[in-house]
Amino acid sequence: APVVAVVGRPNVGKSTLVNRILGRREAVVEDVPGVTRDRVAYDATWSGRRFTVVDTGGWLPDARGLAASIAEQARLAVDLADVVMFVVDATVGATDVDEAVVEILRRSGKPVVLVANKVDGVSAEADAALLWNLGIGEPHPVSALHGRGSGDLLDAVLEALPAEAPPETFAEEGGPRRIALVGRPNVGKSSLLNQLAGETRAVVDAVAGTTRDPIDEEITLGGQVWRFIDTAGIRRRHRENQGADFYATLRTQSALERAEVAVVLVDASESLAEQDLRIISMVVDSGRALVIAYNKWDLLDEERRHYLEREIERQLHHVRWAPRVNVSARTGRHMEKFVPALETALAGWDQRVPTSKLNQFFADLVNSHPHPIRGGKQPRVLFATQAGVRPPRFVLFTTGFLEEGYRRFIERRLREEFGFAGAPLDVTMKIRE
Ligand code: GDP
Repeated sequence: APVVAVVGRPNVGKSTLVNRILGRREAVVEDVPGVTRDRVAYDATWSGRRFTVVDTGGWLPDARGLAASIAEQARLAVDLADVVMFVVDATVGATDVDEAVVEILRRSGKPVVLVANKVDGVSAEADAALLWNLGIGEPHPVSALHGRGSGDLLDAVLEALPAEAPPETFAEEGGPRRIALVGRPNVGKSSLLNQLAGETRAVVDAVAGTTRDPIDEEITLGGQVWRFIDTAGIRRRHRENQGADFYATLRTQSALERAEVAVVLVDASESLAEQDLRIISMVVDSGRALVIAYNKWDLLDEERRHYLEREIERQLHHVRWAPRVNVSARTGRHMEKFVPALETALAGWDQRVPTSKLNQFFADLVNSHPHPIRGGKQPRVLFATQAGVRPPRFVLFTTGFLEEGYRRFIERRLREEFGFAGAPLDVTMKIRE
């Protein structure tokens, strides 16, 4: 969602305005200089359009003096936001600090919506009109406290927002959920399909005359139809020949493109092969949900089982968030565990965390585990939004580059807090150095 930052001196009514935009009747947070609020970003909707409102008043303490602090807020807002709402107290008029902010906003070229707040009565309307003098366009008179003018103001904000991105859609939305069953040769993909399908198999997508077209199968599991992608490729027994590896990789890639969730099948009776790890990486890179299935469980003795656990801990540590099933395509062991694992992974893949919760989380995280100081600087996460799902995508707005270890820590804590089982997480930074 696009980001709208609310900028202005303390006491002009930023928090009241934010509450008004959110349609809340919560106690108004006082705009006391020096008080940093712990939550700064919220989801908002107007006329069906979603955006994130950021109250910059929560960003910085005023230790360096009011003017410097507000200027810094404005610079951050300009860098990180799509639209800046600049709030001025119409009853006070433009101060020197306001003029300085205007300078920063003007130079940035970002769309600015000028808000003349505290226009509670007719007499204040003339005060609002004076703000034309700031030279950044029409002042929008509002009374954040009483709600007057906020509709018109939001219309103006919507107009300033960047064009809406097309909604995230998946081909065949609403149909059966799509599974890619992948794994190196001989791990038991074909056997597993047979075991799962039983009598219920239905071949689909068999486009007449085109043998190269992939053929999927719809299989009923747990009372629900699932579409397995490119089962023709799995069932056709490829004998080892030159370039087979290359074609297997291509097949896997194209199956992943059409799938929502991948089941990576590995042979539990053998050590994990390089190729197993490569396939798992392909799934993670594709952004699809991931389930790992250990097949041939019937072949495991006590010793191998023990060793397998250590192997998983060592080699699959980076995907320990993926649901795991231990099965045997031969005996039918644990076939009923597939559906819960698939559902868990798809739920994590679809999961969305409200912006206010996410920012509460980051505020706590930044307080309890600040980024280490590097070269005299300490980058901070100012706020974060979840930009999308399938897989969950996060954008962190930061004051500097977050090092790899800290980003991994963030990802781990995000999972501890919110789950996201089975979903690779896409975390990017928007940095203001
Ligand atoms: P694919 O190449 O991944 O499709 O693997 P296949 O389904 O063709 O299986 C390869 C070999 O492993 C065949 O000989 C299967 O009978 C055998 N196999 C598959 N699943 C199991 C299992 O759960 N237990 C045992 N013992 N053998 C299996």
